[in-house]
Amino acid sequence: MMSPISQMKRPEHAPYPKLTTKQVEENILPQLNQWALSNGLIMADKDNISKANVAPTTVFPTSVPAKVFENAKTLQKTYNQLYAQVSNSDWLMNETKKLVHSDPDFTGKLYAMAQKCDSQQTLKLGLFRSDYLIDQKSQQIKQVEFNTVSVSFAGLSTKVGEMHSFLNSLGAYDSSDEMKMFYEGMGELPVSESSVFMPRGLARAFTMYQSMNSETKKEKAVIAFIVEPNETNLFDQKAVEFNLLRLYGIKSIRLTFEEALKDLEYSKFDDKKRMVHKKTGKEIAVVYYRTGYTTGDYFNESCWKSREFLENSYAIKAPTVDIQLAGSKKVQQLLTQDETLNKFIDDEATKNELVKTFVKIYPLDDSKLGQEGKKLALACTSNNAKYVLKPQREGGGNNIYKDEIPKFLKTIDEKEWDSYILMEMIDAKPSSENYLVRDGKLTKEPVISELGIYGTILFDKESIRSNEYAGSLLRTKLSSSNEGGVVAGFGTVDSMCLV
Ligand code: ADP
Ligand code: MG
Ligand code: MG
Repeated sequence: MMSPISQMKRPEHAPYPKLTTKQVEENILPQLNQWALSNGLIMADKDNISKANVAPTTVFPTSVPAKVFENAKTLQKTYNQLYAQVSNSDWLMNETKKLVHSDPDFTGKLYAMAQKCDSQQTLKLGLFRSDYLIDQKSQQIKQVEFNTVSVSFAGLSTKVGEMHSFLNSLGAYDSSDEMKMFYEGMGELPVSESSVFMPRGLARAFTMYQSMNSETKKEKAVIAFIVEPNETNLFDQKAVEFNLLRLYGIKSIRLTFEEALKDLEYSKFDDKKRMVHKKTGKEIAVVYYRTGYTTGDYFNESCWKSREFLENSYAIKAPTVDIQLAGSKKVQQLLTQDETLNKFIDDEATKNELVKTFVKIYPLDDSKLGQEGKKLALACTSNNAKYVLKPQREGGGNNIYKDEIPKFLKTIDEKEWDSYILMEMIDAKPSSENYLVRDGKLTKEPVISELGIYGTILFDKESIRSNEYAGSLLRTKLSSSNEGGVVAGFGTVDSMCLV
């Protein structure tokens, strides 16, 4: 006789490997596909944008220690506040200025825009996601990066959690007794609240805009999603859009940079630069950027003109250009230095909690630490090297790993090395095996998961109006791949099974 579930020892991992590929294909995959297509856990086909496929997902939720999740969740408001303060600081502008010479066409343009921005809107909205890997040795979260612009998967993250819960309730995972006992015993398949909490952040900004502008009637105002022309991750964004309407009665419109420039104008009603949609007369209360974080997003000059037009308007921006600059890899590196962190945080205990999530990050400049960084970078001559080189870029596929680093550095002028940072590789805990589904194909592989925590913060120079945790994301990739981007084609969306 089996022992009662309550007396069972908690296994460290869900027993995935017990199921054969054939069992998964026959018993689980059809249910997974049907749920995903019925509920919008989908992505548009990159070759045919009007077609959609099931989004890349895992078959099973991945085990994550409950206390690791709790820790990451608890830190989010501190991280939100830190990056809000950085975005408000002169320090940010001084540091960014130093990056302009080596990246005039991107960082340089954003910097110039921040310098001459004349928006009368003092409120700013941060919709953030802090990403972590779990360090194998210490079993602690270590921060991979902090995203401040175009933070994706808030919609699909909720859906994948719901799908895993559905498969579990259906009994699709019950093919072995051990498995059944495991999920019944744990019962902790938390569904990420991100598809509701991220819209809540947007709604708070929208409501604040209206309360400051009584002449703006609710039915006359909208949120503008600024999007890529052929966005494959459209349905992730749609979940946010639908929840804004369903839960808050807030309407949104979608505009590319080029459309925004053409279809919007500053109102002649006063000199605030309120932004109005010409055709409908709707006023844009909040601008929500889902594009604009990488060079390719500005494919012609009118995209830059549009960004500037939006930035100077009276709408509340999520994010403003200074919040975007605060999310650079360079700022992350500088924040790991005591003297920088001290500028923004007084409380020692709070500081220590953040420091625990840092790994070593080096600049590659002429400072003492920079010299050390250069030496370490050039010494990365084997595939076992422990470092990753990162440029000031977002969106995946930009990093240079391990023994590629010295070769790469030799291709650029040493004067430009200072726009890169050298980061220690986090030795992540392999989450055992899982089945990944991508383009309908099933692979069973050792995997690694990256935990993301969302946060929203509405603030101005004087005060913070709201600061909240906003859900979670688990992205799972093959442990053999260095990168983990889902849209970039390296990973899948996953959910947690707390152990
Ligand atoms: P991006 O802004 O392009 O997403 P990231 O800093 O998140 O850049 O790096 C992309 C991916 O590279 C991460 O999702 C992770 O899989 C891997 N990676 C980045 N930094 C590290 C690190 N220090 N240790 C291990 N893996 C890393
Ligand atoms: Mg990333
Ligand atoms: Mg990023």
